[in-house]
Amino acid sequence: MFQPTGPHLFLPTASSTAEPLRAAASVVFNLPGYQVLSACDLPLGGRRVTAVANSTEAACPDCGVISARVHQRTRQKVKDLGVGGKDIELIVIKPRFLCIELACSRRTFTQVTSQLPFRARCTARLKAAAVEAVLDEGMPIWAACARHRLGWATINAAIIADTVTIPDPDQVPVRALGIDEHRFARAKWFKHPETAQWCRVEPWMSTFVNAATGHILGVVDGRSSANITRWLRARSQAWLEGLEVVAIDPSSAFRNAVAQVLPAVEISVDHWHVVRLGNQMLTEVRQRVTREVLGRRGRKQDSVWAHRMLLLRAGDRLTDAGLHRLEQVLEDEDFEQVAAAWAVKERLRAMLAAQDIPAAQNARIDFEMAVAAADMAETDKLATTVATWWTEIKVFVRTHVTNARTESVNTGIKHIKRTGRGFRNQRNYQSRILGTSIRQTRRRRRIPHQQGLHAQR
Ligand SMILES: [Zn+2]
Repeated sequence: MFQPTGPHLFLPTASSTAEPLRAAASVVFNLPGYQVLSACDLPLGGRRVTAVANSTEAACPDCGVISARVHQRTRQKVKDLGVGGKDIELIVIKPRFLCIELACSRRTFTQVTSQLPFRARCTARLKAAAVEAVLDEGMPIWAACARHRLGWATINAAIIADTVTIPDPDQVPVRALGIDEHRFARAKWFKHPETAQWCRVEPWMSTFVNAATGHILGVVDGRSSANITRWLRARSQAWLEGLEVVAIDPSSAFRNAVAQVLPAVEISVDHWHVVRLGNQMLTEVRQRVTREVLGRRGRKQDSVWAHRMLLLRAGDRLTDAGLHRLEQVLEDEDFEQVAAAWAVKERLRAMLAAQDIPAAQNARIDFEMAVAAADMAETDKLATTVATWWTEIKVFVRTHVTNARTESVNTGIKHIKRTGRGFRNQRNYQSRILGTSIRQTRRRRRIPHQQGLHAQR
């Protein structure tokens, strides 16, 4: 049943351009440039809203001459957000003007508004809601399609268009940069067209993050030194000169790239990665010793296996009960090598927690003594890694610039990949990452407390 609720057919005339008060229905519907003419319930659910354009004149898009000569009024069905929990079928009536400039090749044109741009088949606010669902709520595109009755390509194009509003990285002053890598898809095998040999391709991506805010500045393919230098070289001189510290994973490709482009910038290695290397060492020792002592893999009745997570926990933060259990494991004479490895791991942690360089240097002496006492291949390897990265560890101790925020960004990226059920199109993936990140950063920036240069530990 068609039951008009608004005023009866009222088309704006030149004398009614000044709009003193919007009718109640127009206020509720709130589509700029349009007023609601009628609204009715549809027999199969949903509502039909008819809205008419306010404008009585408009400028020709080609010549810019303003015309008030109406050629015809067009009726068009467009998609819009639901109102009051119901889907809306929106009909817009807008004037098609005649261009009055004789020299202009365009004969007619229609009005455009911010919500209904040229040739739009859906309102800008509907697209914005779909983009928000995908980028802010992490909804997969197919679910946003169902919720907003839009096509996949429409939403994807809106997301890519949203990415265009991302500020140029050169315009974002960064003092501490984080560089990190992540694998963007499963490793694939390709047959080389010429040599007919199978080659393994690991689709890696590297992200550049403002270490202080967690805002992703850029994403590049691969994790080689060449890809990193290419992105860094594309930045402006002023941006590069503003950089003070670059936080990286212990990866020599990253270190070479940064040293090549930015010889004056300090490189900080992330302490979490170094602690992880210490934990890996401890696990390797535990597995090897278990095999040697018991002649098999660990089982849950072996206390060293049962408490394997306790071994990896921070020793200075254990509860009394935890400490007591750990003592029982480490006092077992058969597993004295595990105890030695645990001591090395704890010395490594103490070294990274040092508050200044002299304290770190003293802690390193303790660490080296523990390594010498342990006298194992695994602990020697760890000591070599620490020696290789000592300069960068000292920068970390002094500045506390870490990749912690980059790591949380990587978790977000993995979530994007999961909801997308894997991405085949790299451009879509990159725009989704950059779009999500900038929106998160903008939201966080509204929080009053300021993030300084040094990310929190
Ligand atoms: Zn014209």
